Amino acid sequence: MRVLVTGGAGFIGSHFVRTLLDDGLPGLEGASVTVLDSLSYAGNRANLPAAHPRLEFVRGDILDLPLLLDLFPGHDAVVHFAAESHVDRSIDDANVFVRTNAEGSQNVFEACRRTGVERVVHVSTDEVYGSIDSGSWTEREPLLPNSPYAASKAASDLIARAYWRTHGLDLSITRCSNNYGPYQHTEKLIPLFVTNLIEGVPLPLYGDGANVREWLHVDDHCRAIALVLREGAAGEVYNVGGGNERTNREIAELLVELGGADTSAIRRVADRLGHDLRYALDDTKIREELGYAPRVPFEQGLADTFAWYRDNPAWWKPLKGSGRA
Ligand code: NAD
Repeated sequence: MRVLVTGGAGFIGSHFVRTLLDDGLPGLEGASVTVLDSLSYAGNRANLPAAHPRLEFVRGDILDLPLLLDLFPGHDAVVHFAAESHVDRSIDDANVFVRTNAEGSQNVFEACRRTGVERVVHVSTDEVYGSIDSGSWTEREPLLPNSPYAASKAASDLIARAYWRTHGLDLSITRCSNNYGPYQHTEKLIPLFVTNLIEGVPLPLYGDGANVREWLHVDDHCRAIALVLREGAAGEVYNVGGGNERTNREIAELLVELGGADTSAIRRVADRLGHDLRYALDDTKIREELGYAPRVPFEQGLADTFAWYRDNPAWWKPLKGSGRA
């Protein structure tokens, strides 16, 4: 089997590729992988093995349709991770988000259609649903995105659906909650707080820290994507939750404890514009229909993630001070 992975040099995509090459994704053992990644500020070639007999790396942009039409033939499946992924950046400049996430995704689906790719998974996010005060979202919930990032991802979900419905593309969509784990850019909440703690720098907590997110280890997310790739139904959406709801303040406090610091390290800063209060997914469908269950206990995953950043300063130090981190 040949799988093409867009955005495979980023945080989640590279975890997917490394795990696949280690034969850690059931059903994809022995598969070869082509990674297509533009190596934006968020992509890093060093997140992948320098050389592997089953890995081909292509530096290129999903906005470049002729490139996709050249590259996609011969692949059995495409897993589409490539995106602009940081909400704060989308508040500063939404343009590249719309281009990459909406137009770029359309190119990916179009290239799949034209070159006869048999199976596609579009990796999306719980943020497309908006914000929910209580209860949780099923896949049937309307899309009410609030940030330009979430809106651009919602656009890509709708385009994906249209390619299934209009062209019969065998495509499924995953909508996952917040991921954490190794190799995540230091602009994101957990790596930012962990690396600040390691460097003895205060943790900037947005507003009162009451915003609730549901956290899932990247390894559980990647296993869910592989499961949907193998067994998901065309045109269907699968929520991937995890059930670990925590306020941002609770995350900060857990990390402070892991870092052996005290809560005076936490500094309240002006809140993010339009900051969604709470995300919560109902992921009964993927659990009941595909037999999915997350494996990584949150406290253990968080401690392992902290240890990874402590052990790998050479990976993250160059990112600090670049951009937002
Ligand atoms: P990331 O920002 O770490 O990685 C994105 C990758 O896409 C990078 O390697 C980047 O170089 C590449 N890329 C960006 N623009 C490109 C373009 N025009 N052409 C080709 N490659 C391009 O993001 P991530 O956190 O790994 O997220 C991956 C996917 O998962 C995204 O679609 C995101 O919306 C989704 N998602 C993320 C989370 C999360 O918590 N991080 C949760 C749910 C869903």
